[in-house]
Amino acid sequence: MQSWPGPPIPKLPGRGFPLWLHDSATGQVRLTAPGATARMYVCGITPYDATHLGHAATYLAFDLVNRVWRDGGHDVHFVQNVTDIDDPLLERAARDHDDWMVLGMRETALFREDMAALRILPPRDYIGAVESIDEAVALIVALLDAGVAYRLDDGSGDVYYDVGRSQRFGYESGLSTDAMLAYFAERGGDPDRAGKRNRLDPHLWRGARPGEPAWESAVGPGRPGWHIECTAIALNRLGMGFDVQGGGSDLLFPHHEMSAAHAESVTGDWPFARHYVHAGMIGLAGTKMSKSRGNLVFVSRLRGDKVDPMVIRAALLAGHYREDRPWSGLLLDEARGRLGRWREAVALDAGPDAGPLLGAVRRQLADDLDTVNALAAVDHWAAEALQRRGRDAGAPPLVRKTVDALLGIAL
Ligand code: ZN
Repeated sequence: MQSWPGPPIPKLPGRGFPLWLHDSATGQVRLTAPGATARMYVCGITPYDATHLGHAATYLAFDLVNRVWRDGGHDVHFVQNVTDIDDPLLERAARDHDDWMVLGMRETALFREDMAALRILPPRDYIGAVESIDEAVALIVALLDAGVAYRLDDGSGDVYYDVGRSQRFGYESGLSTDAMLAYFAERGGDPDRAGKRNRLDPHLWRGARPGEPAWESAVGPGRPGWHIECTAIALNRLGMGFDVQGGGSDLLFPHHEMSAAHAESVTGDWPFARHYVHAGMIGLAGTKMSKSRGNLVFVSRLRGDKVDPMVIRAALLAGHYREDRPWSGLLLDEARGRLGRWREAVALDAGPDAGPLLGAVRRQLADDLDTVNALAAVDHWAAEALQRRGRDAGAPPLVRKTVDALLGIAL
C-alpha cells in the first residue's frame, strides 16, 4: 500500500540519548537497545471511520520513538498495517449501504492526509490486510501443521488458535483469566462460540459466509483474522525479537497478546517483540473516545475548521503518552498560545544559548517520552528569549531545528 509523504528531518549537532520506554510485559521502564536499524511495528487503523484524536495521540507517541532513535544514530524500519478487511468495516459498509472496499480506500486516504498533516514520519512498509492474505494463510497452515490451531467441525471452515498450546500465553498483558475473558468479549472475541477448545481461542481464519467477501486459499475460502494479520506482516518484514510493538492500550489484550502468541508458536522463538508499548486513551466528557461511544473528535474535522495541525500536535504532546487523558478545546487554546510564543521567539535575531535546551529535550524524550517536561524546557527558553536575554544569533535557528527534529513541530 502507498504510504504518505514524510517531512525532512533537520540534522542536529551531536547525538541523542538511548531511549528508555515503558514495557507492558514487565511493567517497567526499560532501555531499548536497537541495532543499527531499529525495528518497530505499530498497529494501524481499521478504515471504517476517520482518524480521531485517540488514534492521533497513539501515532504521535510512536513518531517520537522513531525520532528519538534516529537522533540517537539509528536507522528505523517502521512497519504499519491497515486492517482493510474485518467485521467492523463490513458492518459499517452494510449500515451505510456503502461498498466495503470503497469505504476502506476512502478512509485510508483520509488517514494518510491526517498523518502527513500531523508530520508523522511514514512507515517504510505500509501493508494492507487484503494484500497480505497469502502471508496470513502461510502462518495459519504452519500453525495447523504444528497442532496449535484447529478447524471447527461445524462446516463453517473457521480455524482457531489453541491458546492452551501456547507456551507463555498471558505474559504480555499479565491479566487474570476473568479479565481476559471480559476484554475478549468486549474487543471482537467470541468466548461463547460452540466447539472451541478454550473460550479465549481467537479465530485465525473465518470461512466464507454468504454475502461476505472471501478469498480462495490453502485453508479453504474465507478471510484472515485480525491478530494473525499483524503477526504475518510484522514477522515477514521485521522478524522475531523486533524492538517495539506499539499501539493504544486497548490493543494490549487480546490483540497484541494473541499476535505475539501466534508468532511464538510458529517460530518456536521468543519474544515476538522486546518492548510492548501502549499509549493511553484520549477521553471526551469523562469517557474514552471510541467509535462505539460515538464521542469522537476527528483530526480531519479540526483541519477542516482551519486548526493548524501543529497546534493539534502540540496539544496532544502536552500530556504524557501513557496517561489516559481528557480532550477539550482548552488544550487547543493553550497549544495555540504556546506555539505563538515559540514562533515569536525563534523569529528573533538572537536568544540564550540553545545548547542546554537541545540537551534537555533529548534527555526528557529519552526518559519514556516525557513530552510534558520537554515542552516546558522549550517554554523556558522562549520566555527568556522574549525577554531579550541572550545574544546568541545561532540560538533561534537551533531551537527551530530541535523542535522540528525531535518534537515534529514545524515553527
Ligand atoms: Zn495489530
